Amino acid sequence: MTKAIAFASFDATSPLAPFHFERREPGATDVQIEILFCGVCHSDLHTVRGEWAGTVYPCVPGHEIVGRVTKVGREVTGFAVGGLAAVGCMVDSCRACPSCRAGLEQYCERDDVTWTYNSPDKHLPGQVTYGGYSSQVVVDERFCLRVSDQLPLAAVAPLLCAGITLYSPLRHWGAAAGKKVGIVGLGGLGHMGVKFAHAFGAHTVLFTTSPGKADDARRLGADEVVVSRDADAMRRHAGSFDLIVDTVAVPHDLDAYTGLLRRDGALVLVGVPEKAHPAPSVGRLIGRRRSVAGSLIGGIRETQEMLDFCAERGIVSEVEVIPMQRIDEAYARMLRSDVRYRFVVDMSSLGG
Ligand code: NAP
Ligand code: ZN
Ligand code: ZN
Repeated sequence: MTKAIAFASFDATSPLAPFHFERREPGATDVQIEILFCGVCHSDLHTVRGEWAGTVYPCVPGHEIVGRVTKVGREVTGFAVGGLAAVGCMVDSCRACPSCRAGLEQYCERDDVTWTYNSPDKHLPGQVTYGGYSSQVVVDERFCLRVSDQLPLAAVAPLLCAGITLYSPLRHWGAAAGKKVGIVGLGGLGHMGVKFAHAFGAHTVLFTTSPGKADDARRLGADEVVVSRDADAMRRHAGSFDLIVDTVAVPHDLDAYTGLLRRDGALVLVGVPEKAHPAPSVGRLIGRRRSVAGSLIGGIRETQEMLDFCAERGIVSEVEVIPMQRIDEAYARMLRSDVRYRFVVDMSSLGG
């Protein structure tokens, strides 16, 4: 076992605070990573505040992890000491069900995904996994990702969750040239959605509640920006979208978006609010065979594909790097939609 330093939440309301624990020694197929940067996802906030059922305290969040390899097990072939490695939302799964075999581990049919944090730890019975707000992590190489050393590393970290969570549905639902694609919300997930939809050649429209983000959105790749509280502006887009991906973390009226879809268009929900959205109108769905769907991160294979795509195209997240000690302030700003556009923790701030 090796000592790790982390920041953890100890209950749903107190600020995060330092926490010491031990990581397992790397086994034959494990990679030990010194964490250099970890992105701050709204899911971290939902979890530490107990907004989703099942938070086990102390809770060490963080699933946008990049760092340097410090040790590898004897059977590891894809990573070497001194090189870079990354970890996203999952550190294991059943590996045997049809979804796992298809590289879609996030949809494991045995519900046996080991999430990077707050998930029963297969290696340490009785404990939960601890995430990336920590000095180091030990992960099976099958769930480690390769990242480019040509990109700014802090800005690569958010690709591991925010990036793949938008890349995957945009690919699955065919965002490409000739398609009109909407992204709802310019936060961590949404700004990656704008970048990817633009990179895939789609006509990209950002829906935002923050008019002050319009210039940034255009710079990031949006062809149009619509302030979602402006009913006239919304109406002008009625029946015109092939795909809308909704990243908003609070309940809202989905009909405002289903009505903007053309025949066979899809509204894909990726935001996971604490409380349910009001049910969408069936009339709006059947009228043009529209669908409302959901999507969860992406599998390991597709995450690697996304990272390679980003390396080729020079795509990274827009980040504000903070020390670990400012995490609660970052959460507060996230709740005010004041993130431009992902906080990333510099782990050197944890000290020795
Ligand atoms: P975030 O950075 O806080 O961004 C959310 C954005 O939603 C805000 O920046 C804001 O954009 C918009 N928004 C906030 N309040 C709103 C309101 N009252 N009405 C309308 N829009 C509002 O959060 P994130 O990290 O991108 O995560 C977003 C959600 O996705 C969270 O629920 C998170 O848990 C979930 N998530 C899901 C997956 C998955 O696999 N499905 C993966 C990661 C995260 P504007 O200022 O532009 O309106
Ligand atoms: Zn996340
Ligand atoms: Zn499985």
